[in-house]
Amino acid sequence: MVVDHIPFFRHDLGEDEFESIKAVLQGPILTTGSTVAQFERRFADGLGIEHCVALSSCTAALHLALTALGIGPGDEVITTPMTFIATATAIIQAGATPVFVDVEADTGNMDASNIAAAVTEKTRAIMPVHLFGLMVDMRSVRAVADRYGLAVIEDCAHCIEGSRDGVRPGQLSDAACFSFYATKNMTCGEGGALVCRSEALAHSVRLLRLHGMNKTAHERHTQGYSHWDMPVFGWKYNMDNIHAALLLPQLSRLERNLKQREKRAERYHQYMTEVSGVSLLSSRPSSVHARHLFPIRCQRVPRDEVIVALKKRNIESVVNYRAIHLLTYFKDRFGYGRGAYPHAERLGDELLSLPFYPTMPFEHIDAVNKALFEIVEAEVVDV
Ligand SMILES: *Cc1c(COP(=O)(O)O)cnc(C)c1O
Repeated sequence: MVVDHIPFFRHDLGEDEFESIKAVLQGPILTTGSTVAQFERRFADGLGIEHCVALSSCTAALHLALTALGIGPGDEVITTPMTFIATATAIIQAGATPVFVDVEADTGNMDASNIAAAVTEKTRAIMPVHLFGLMVDMRSVRAVADRYGLAVIEDCAHCIEGSRDGVRPGQLSDAACFSFYATKNMTCGEGGALVCRSEALAHSVRLLRLHGMNKTAHERHTQGYSHWDMPVFGWKYNMDNIHAALLLPQLSRLERNLKQREKRAERYHQYMTEVSGVSLLSSRPSSVHARHLFPIRCQRVPRDEVIVALKKRNIESVVNYRAIHLLTYFKDRFGYGRGAYPHAERLGDELLSLPFYPTMPFEHIDAVNKALFEIVEAEVVDV
């Protein structure tokens, strides 16, 4: 059966965002200014964290978190191979070395009980990723970090709305990094943010996001001229007012959009239990799952064949993720091979993200379910 084209994701930006951007265009400051400051305040307040620094991407946030914490060449950072490459490449950008630990077989999240064995004299930080929106066991991660005197930097690209055991993103870490990339739960096309509890860290990140300059163009414009200095080396990672304007109205929709994604996840779930060649990842008790994506595990028909078969039926799907230690660069540079992280590898072979977004029509979910059923339950697979 061929159905309408079913996209993987659609953003819900509209009138509110047009109005918000219009206000910026009518003002004098297009780059980092009061709209960014307003977004930073509201984002931090929403999480209950003291400081937020808005940036050009989550990758930039991860890079600056490490750099501002003094982590660089010669240092090791423990992270997960079941993530987007940016988690690990940010560590390399900072000059440090990523060290992977295997994940929980049923959630795909970093297994906190594997961390201690990976700690060496060079280890300086742990970088957990709240995969697909389910928070990592941050109490355990913090406990290991404290035992060995390590920093914790959260990759929250999938998890603004989540919580676990009463802990929200940013509350038990030194810094938490968010993405506003095109398909994330909140988006401005490209953007990111770092939140932290330390004023000194926030101050460092503010310097590092703008060439290491100690005054922004906006400050020079509004406070009368005084020379800026460059006390440290920095990057060009600042967010501008236009992107912040796109994000501001979305803050009020975060909760509603999560509810809408939950309803769609339930719809998928109802049916999924009948499809025996497909299974779902586990959640964890006392957790609010941010439900960024809707991943399934293809356990009968090979995942790559399912992708092709869905595509034939006009249904888009995405692989999040193949285990990153098996990508050519990581294999070549660090000598990893198959067998190093079996749980991550298995998930990396099986996982497939189905179309999923807050305004996704229920008929589309039913159509995806029906197509999946045809594909994985068919006696002779017709791909
Ligand atoms: C999207 C993503 C990133 C990178 O975010 P950018 O804003 O594109 O830099 C990092 N980590 C994970 C887990 C992601 O999904």
